[in-house]
Amino acid sequence: MRSLLAILFLAPAALGQTYALRGTLITPDEVIENGVVLVKDGVIEDAGANVTVPDNVNIVETHGFIYPGLIDLHNHLTWNAFPRWSAGTLTRNRYEWQATDSYAARLSGYQAKLRDAGCDLERFAEVKALVWGATSTVGSLPLVCTKGLARNLDYYSGFFGTEAAKEPLQYRVFPLELKESDEKSVRDALAADKPVIAHLCEGVDASAARELRMARAHGFLTKGFIIIHGVPLKDKDFAELGKNGVGFVWSPRSNIELYGATADVASAKKYVTLAIAPDWSPSGSNGMLEEMRYAAIWNDQQFPPVFTNKELVQMATTNPAKLARLDSKTGRLAKGLAADYVIVRASARDPYQALIYAAHDDVLAVAVAGRPLYGDETMMKAINPNARVEPISVCGAAKAVDMSDSDDGKGISFADTKKNLIAAFRMFALPMAGLAECP
Ligand SMILES: [Zn+2]
Repeated sequence: MRSLLAILFLAPAALGQTYALRGTLITPDEVIENGVVLVKDGVIEDAGANVTVPDNVNIVETHGFIYPGLIDLHNHLTWNAFPRWSAGTLTRNRYEWQATDSYAARLSGYQAKLRDAGCDLERFAEVKALVWGATSTVGSLPLVCTKGLARNLDYYSGFFGTEAAKEPLQYRVFPLELKESDEKSVRDALAADKPVIAHLCEGVDASAARELRMARAHGFLTKGFIIIHGVPLKDKDFAELGKNGVGFVWSPRSNIELYGATADVASAKKYVTLAIAPDWSPSGSNGMLEEMRYAAIWNDQQFPPVFTNKELVQMATTNPAKLARLDSKTGRLAKGLAADYVIVRASARDPYQALIYAAHDDVLAVAVAGRPLYGDETMMKAINPNARVEPISVCGAAKAVDMSDSDDGKGISFADTKKNLIAAFRMFALPMAGLAECP
């Protein structure tokens, strides 16, 4: 019964076989050398130093570091095929850069015209998310093509049955611009103890700061509300958020590139559960690992540093899982959780540092519900001999994807996705971004 339930709740991506991975486990609260993760029907059957592996079960020797899959609580997936963009000057709030001619000329105007390519944009962005270690993300399209690769926590995570658009989590870009009925749905969700992630206080001026007062007046500052950005918030504001059970998502690169400043995370970490996420490719990072590296370099320049390497890894795993109320389902290597994981080459002595500084070619496998969807072909095949691997190049590194489940099982390849997008971008004489920025 257990395995049948697991299949139902992790469908459609769960890998229906039993296998074990050996390596250094970063759970991430502890490091277990020479540990084993036993995976059955897409679920972690056991993980630790003393796992009994049944005789007939294949043990994959990874010689690597094994982490839970990264959880991205701030993204806008369909923008991630667009190249890097800058407003040309620092702005004081999001309304300023959204009003620039260059935003219309390089991003928003074309994003609207590329709507027919929505599923290609979505699929491309999900592969991009996987390349940078994310197994769960938000900011996806409410279309059935969203099913099958990364988990989309705002549309179809695979954790709440097989029907799409039944997720408890809401992802709201601008909650202060909502219609009254939508606003009510945010308050109802919070009253029912469901998480709502929203952009708030994005900028450095008084109008950005004012959004906290507006959110308070709307009755949003309550348990389950999760604020993205919060650049101008002060220590006393974070104290209030912490007291009310409000969470926080930090996106430093996008903040610093657009506004020249980012949130006071030294204050934030005293009071609130803090997650890190890349925002989007144009002004943020290409994905989770890249944003973690950006944060680590920023952190090294602070006196004293705000975070340890371990805390940065927790901000990409256990903390976002807790904020999204998915900590009993993903975000740790622990018995009973989904087998969402990332395997990275053991390149540094400190496994937390190895993840933060992992380059795209250090990622050996990224698996959702036990099924490796991205990585090195040999590792993917060792884990899943039936994987339909499609070779791809990431800045010259030979990697592979398994697109068998893309578009709700239609299995549209990455090559076709890219071909469609290149044709669509060419129509508008636009350059297209890659999965990574190559040196
Ligand atoms: Zn955003």
